[in-house]
Amino acid sequence: MPARIFIFFVIISCFLVRVAAAAGVPVTAFTGASVINESGTAFESGSTIIIRDGKIVAIGRSGAVTIPAGARTVPLNGRYVVPGLVNSHVHLATLAVPAQARAYLRRELYSGVTMVRDMAGDVRLLAELQREAAADEIVAPDIYYASLFAGPSFFVDPRSHDASRGIEPGKAPWMQAISPETDLRLAVARAKGTGATAIKLYADLPAPLVTAITAEAHRQSLLVWSHAAIFPARPSEIVEAGVDVMSHADFIGFESITPFPQSFQQARRTDLSAWKLTPAVSSVLSKMKSRGLILDATVDVGFRDPIPTWPASVAVQLAREAHKRGIPISAGTDDDADWKDPNSALLAEIERLVHDVGMTNAEALRAATVVGARTVGEQATLAAGHAANFVVLGADPLQDIRNLRNVILVVKHGIEHQRSAYEPATSAPTASNAGHSFRHQPGTYTRRAAPERQWSAESPLS
Ligand SMILES: [Zn+2]
Repeated sequence: MPARIFIFFVIISCFLVRVAAAAGVPVTAFTGASVINESGTAFESGSTIIIRDGKIVAIGRSGAVTIPAGARTVPLNGRYVVPGLVNSHVHLATLAVPAQARAYLRRELYSGVTMVRDMAGDVRLLAELQREAAADEIVAPDIYYASLFAGPSFFVDPRSHDASRGIEPGKAPWMQAISPETDLRLAVARAKGTGATAIKLYADLPAPLVTAITAEAHRQSLLVWSHAAIFPARPSEIVEAGVDVMSHADFIGFESITPFPQSFQQARRTDLSAWKLTPAVSSVLSKMKSRGLILDATVDVGFRDPIPTWPASVAVQLAREAHKRGIPISAGTDDDADWKDPNSALLAEIERLVHDVGMTNAEALRAATVVGARTVGEQATLAAGHAANFVVLGADPLQDIRNLRNVILVVKHGIEHQRSAYEPATSAPTASNAGHSFRHQPGTYTRRAAPERQWSAESPLS
């Protein structure tokens, strides 16, 4: 070959390599896996998933999917792939302790959770954690969070002080006291400005305010996540208000309690084991079904962290009734479970949905994926164009739901996290502040200085 032609080819080759590199975002092909189908009812063996730039670009039977030249191949023969799990009820920052929250999030991710719905806390930390998770600076699920609205009388609760330290309780944009005099347009706008994608309705609000807040939140394109009873607003009135998600199956039972509690503190002292499946309770459930409302049932927390006035059996009974009627149920933990536990409490919640609530394995998996994602207005589908968020399991969860504990690999935004690389947190920094948990500290709260305490004494806002 003449020298000039050789040099020409060298130059052209270099150019082509540069073009390939520029276009060549790394591509990974996961091959040979059994991937759950879109309805979540069966696995399709011998499947291939192609991911690029954090997204699924192709998925299907091996013969039907072409693996691009140069792709890195990850063989997953004998493995089972399901969408990343969604924990629809967490409390990352009732009291902002960044190290604790990050340890919790890391544990959730390594348990297969790629999305969490935070049910109100200190947004100054939540927004930062959300940024870090979205940018893959920390090993964590993606985070969605709410701003909390409650009646002024609620703000003696020390958890509301914890979550807005440095600001007068009830005045923080993410933790607002709402009365009939409140300018709701401004209140919702302030809540939205925190980066929240929903309003959480918590306590001590009458029905007309619940209705007005819900309408204004929807007008400003925010979701409304409510407790299933707000006192004095009843479950039936909350359903009628048009909220999107209701938390705590047991709270629906309050519809049959007479006299109906007029505040969160009264409800806290009410024996919910006296609930009955009255026509009024049935009507609440029927309307939830017809309106497509999602129930964030939180069954396991009552077993894990019992409250004598609200027996765990009530949540089980009402979740069963809801499920029988076809109400979509999401899987949430309402925890700040032991951060040293190497597994997410979500796995116990999912197992409760099967063994106590009567779901099939497929239904429980759907609760923790598809339905959970819907609570935040997202999707959890393994399909081209969707985020590459999935869990690789060593055994079939449709055969035995406990196989969700057999995590081999978690992929979030296309980044691979080998479960074998996970080291559970065993020690933690001391925070010079304390959390408050209503589950452990019933009674009337008064504002007080926080004592020195280990940060493991964290507090759920339920
Ligand atoms: Zn909660």
